[in-house]
Amino acid sequence: MSSNHHDDLTARTEAIRSGKTTAVDRMQTLLARIEESNPDLNAYHESFAGESIARAEQIDAAIAAGEDPGPLAGAAIAIKDNICTRLGRTTCSSRMLEHYQSPFDATVVERIEAAGGIVVGKTNLDEFAMGSSSEHCAWGPVRNPRDRERVPGGSSGGSAAAVVADLADAALGSDTGGSIRQPAAFCGCVGFKPTYGRISRWGLVAFGSSLDQIGPLTHSVRDAALMYSVMAGVDHRDSTSAEVKVDDPLSSVDEGANGLRIGVAREYLSERTSPEITRLVQQKIEKLKAEGASIVELDLPLTDHGISTYYVIAPAEASSNLARYDGIRYGHRAESVPGESLEDLYARTRSEGFGPEVQRRIMLGTYVLSAGYYDAYYKRALQVRRLIKNEFDQAFSQCDVLLGPTTPTTAFRIGEEMDPLSMYLNDVYTVNANIAGICAISVPISGDDSSAGALPVGLHLQAQAFNEPMLFRAASAVEAGNQA
Ligand code: GLN
Repeated sequence: MSSNHHDDLTARTEAIRSGKTTAVDRMQTLLARIEESNPDLNAYHESFAGESIARAEQIDAAIAAGEDPGPLAGAAIAIKDNICTRLGRTTCSSRMLEHYQSPFDATVVERIEAAGGIVVGKTNLDEFAMGSSSEHCAWGPVRNPRDRERVPGGSSGGSAAAVVADLADAALGSDTGGSIRQPAAFCGCVGFKPTYGRISRWGLVAFGSSLDQIGPLTHSVRDAALMYSVMAGVDHRDSTSAEVKVDDPLSSVDEGANGLRIGVAREYLSERTSPEITRLVQQKIEKLKAEGASIVELDLPLTDHGISTYYVIAPAEASSNLARYDGIRYGHRAESVPGESLEDLYARTRSEGFGPEVQRRIMLGTYVLSAGYYDAYYKRALQVRRLIKNEFDQAFSQCDVLLGPTTPTTAFRIGEEMDPLSMYLNDVYTVNANIAGICAISVPISGDDSSAGALPVGLHLQAQAFNEPMLFRAASAVEAGNQA
C-alpha cells in the first residue's frame, strides 16, 4: 500500500522511482530551502550541495536505464553529527572534534546509500548527545521550527528541526535516554528508537555504550518503518549487534488497532504531566478503544527510578568513553606550555575542548565509578536496571504495547531551563526504554479541537525487545487517528 502522507519519504521516493519527479529536482528544491531557512534554525552544521546533486544525477540515470536504485531512491537523509560520515566533518558539536574528519562511513550510512539514499548534511546536537534541548552546542542552539523562541528538544534537535522544516526527507538521530523521541515530540515528527542491538552502532561516537542506539526521525510512521528495514540487522563490526532475524515491518503496519492490547500505566498520567498533554493522550486512548483495542491498566512503580538510574549509568559510561579525548591521540590539544607536565596538558586540553555539561557528566561518572562509591552508586544502579527490565517483561506478558506521553511538557523557551536537574526530568518517560533495551517510538498527536499554533505533543509507545513490527503497527493506528 502506498503512503497516506503526500509529502513523506515514502511518497517522495515512490514519485522518483516511478519517474513522476526526478531526484535532481527534489534535491534542488530541498537545497534551496536549506539555504533559506538554516541560518535561522541552525539545524545543520553543514550540507553537501555539490555531492548531493551529483548523487541525485546518478540515481536519475539509473532509473532512466531501467534499474532500481532501492527503496530510498533519491531521498535526502540528514545525519546527526555524532555519526561518522566520510563526507564533511563529524564534530559531535564539540570544540574537541571541531576539525575531525572520519576516514569511514558508519554502517547505517553505508546501508542508506546502498538503498539509494543521499547524505545531504550533518545536523546539530547537544555536545556529545548530552542534553534535552539542543542548546549545549559548540556553535549555537537549534531553534524549533514550530516556534523559533523555543527549543527543539535534544539531543537530536537538529535532526528533528530538519525534518519538520522540510529540510530533509528523513534524518538519523541517536537515543541514549530519549534523544530521538523527545525532540520528535517537541517538533512534531515521528522519532523511533530501536531495540538495543537491532541497528549497528558502528560509527556512532560512543556516549553510553549500553544505552546508545541510532534511529530515524521521519514525517510518518511508515517512513520510520522503511528506514528501519533498510538499517536493521546484524553487523559484525558492532560486537553488541544482535543475531535476530528482522521481520518485515511494512507488511503489518496498516493492520490497525483492532485486537491490540494496549497497556496504560498509572504512572504515565501522573500530575507531573501537563493537563493538556494528559487530556490529548486520554482522547487517543478512547479512540483506540473505539477501534477495537483493549486497554490494560497497570502499575509501573519503577518509572520514577529511571532518571536516577540513568544518571548514574550514562555518565559512568560517558566518563570512560570520553577518556580517549586526551589531546594526544584525538582532537583538540591546548597550546603547550614549556615545562608543563603531561597531566596539566590533559587538564587544560579537556577544559578547553569540552563544554560545561560534558564536564559535569565526566565528573559525575568518575565519581560513581571510584573506589568507595562504586558499590553505593554504580552497582546499585545496575541492580535497579535489572528490576526495571523485569518490570517491563511482566508488563509485556499482559499487553502488546505500552502507551503514554513522550514528555511531561511541550517545548520550553530557549534559556528557560538552566538548572541541570529540571533539564534531566524531561526524559522521565523515555529513559527506561534504554535502560531495559526495548524499542519505543514517539508519534505526534493532535486533539479533535486542536487550535492552530498549539505546540506539538508526542505520544510514546513501547514494545518488547525485537517486536518492532508490533510497535509500528500500533504507532500507525495512532497516527491514522490524527486524520480521522
Ligand atoms: N537527555 C538525556 C541526556 O542528557 C538523553 C540524551 C540522549 O538520549 N542522547 O543524557
